[in-house]
Amino acid sequence: MRIVFLGAAKTVTGSMFLLETDSGNVLVDCGFFQGRRQKSKELNRDLPSKVFDADLMVLTHAHIDHSGSTPTLVKRGFKGPIYTTPATADLCQHMFRDSARIQQHDAEYLNRKNSDDPDWEKLEPLYTEKDAISALKQMVTYHYWRSFEPLPGVRIVFHDAGHVLGSACVLIEAEGKKVLFSGDIGRRNMPILRDPEVPANVDYVVMESTYGDREHGAIESTRAELARIINETAARGGKVIIPSFALERTQEVVLGLNHLRKDGKIEDIPIYVDSPLATNLTHVFKNHPECYDDGAISFLQEHGDPFGFDTLTYTSSVQESIALNTAKGPMVIISASGMCEAGRIVHHLRNNIESPDNSIVIVGFQAQHTLGRRLVERRDRVKIFGVPRDLRARVEVLNGFSAHAGRASLIKFAKLAGPDHKKVFLVHGEEKSQVSLAEALQKRNMNVVIPSRCQIETLD
Ligand SMILES: [Zn+2]
Repeated sequence: MRIVFLGAAKTVTGSMFLLETDSGNVLVDCGFFQGRRQKSKELNRDLPSKVFDADLMVLTHAHIDHSGSTPTLVKRGFKGPIYTTPATADLCQHMFRDSARIQQHDAEYLNRKNSDDPDWEKLEPLYTEKDAISALKQMVTYHYWRSFEPLPGVRIVFHDAGHVLGSACVLIEAEGKKVLFSGDIGRRNMPILRDPEVPANVDYVVMESTYGDREHGAIESTRAELARIINETAARGGKVIIPSFALERTQEVVLGLNHLRKDGKIEDIPIYVDSPLATNLTHVFKNHPECYDDGAISFLQEHGDPFGFDTLTYTSSVQESIALNTAKGPMVIISASGMCEAGRIVHHLRNNIESPDNSIVIVGFQAQHTLGRRLVERRDRVKIFGVPRDLRARVEVLNGFSAHAGRASLIKFAKLAGPDHKKVFLVHGEEKSQVSLAEALQKRNMNVVIPSRCQIETLD
């Protein structure tokens, strides 16, 4: 048995691993690379030829850096089943189609803009909404803990990863060995989802390491910080702009604001979720209470909808979104994309970044070379739509909302998956974080490998 590390190797995005067994090959995730535009574009366009050796695919969760290239794979001839959880399949309905629409829109825009240039090579989207729907047709769903045998002698089971709705750690048993693909690992004691669970007695662990060198703030103090920022900004008459991932983070922030309002910790100011994708995904959350933890189920029973309240508006039309540009504060605007690279958030940043009355609240991980990272670094000037803008709004970074396990939990995860595993492969992390985590695991006598892209490892 062998693993080929096709993506998320020494980097945070582009999850893609091929497990080759005697009875067939399993592709685990097929995600987008994100980061430097040109490089990511090439990597997403030129899928490694090895992915087409897959007989079936398993998808750990709906985040685009794990799922985004699946429609490309199907468009280029992959006919096998794509196994995942029911909630992930429902989220992918929206994630895939949204991704296709963005690509189609960007290609049309750039083709139009460069229509006078005789050397302009016409851009094509990687996939269209129709291709995205074709990929959805190949999905086969299994709930957590229901094992299935898609190839003779290859048994697969999803365990709850507690990271985003429907997220799974995938345990694959073949040739007398157990291989665990962690996907992204969630945090304990977070709202909405159950805590991550770790299968024991695993032989090989392929584990994420996004926060391998850091811990996060506690969710309670993070909510208190958010309340402080909202109240201070409201007192200045400003707007609070929250770039947020449409999946999970938006719902966590909304639930947090719902709690703060109920407890009288924030003023009653208008709150907008201005992202069609986030709105659609929130509907999926409402349809999958089987993924909730006890706290979210109690909230549902006592107060009704955790993701809706009087002062909250989910905007739908473009006109409603544009109207927010001229609307006077105070108000809170939650919008996507989470790393500020595309979508309505870029417009809100452009319109609000130059006023010191406003606050920009960063609630998620910001990869290198993204506008979000430049905001975290509090650069004096940042380019938005190619135009330099002064960064005068206050930038506040809240780490407590992270959906990723921190360093101590990652160490614990690796330990619990043992005790006698042969190797831990660290993936899905920047180098500094991976090296730091590797050292910590080696100190605990674990055999750790940080694979490079396209590295092949034999599991004997
Ligand atoms: Zn994720």
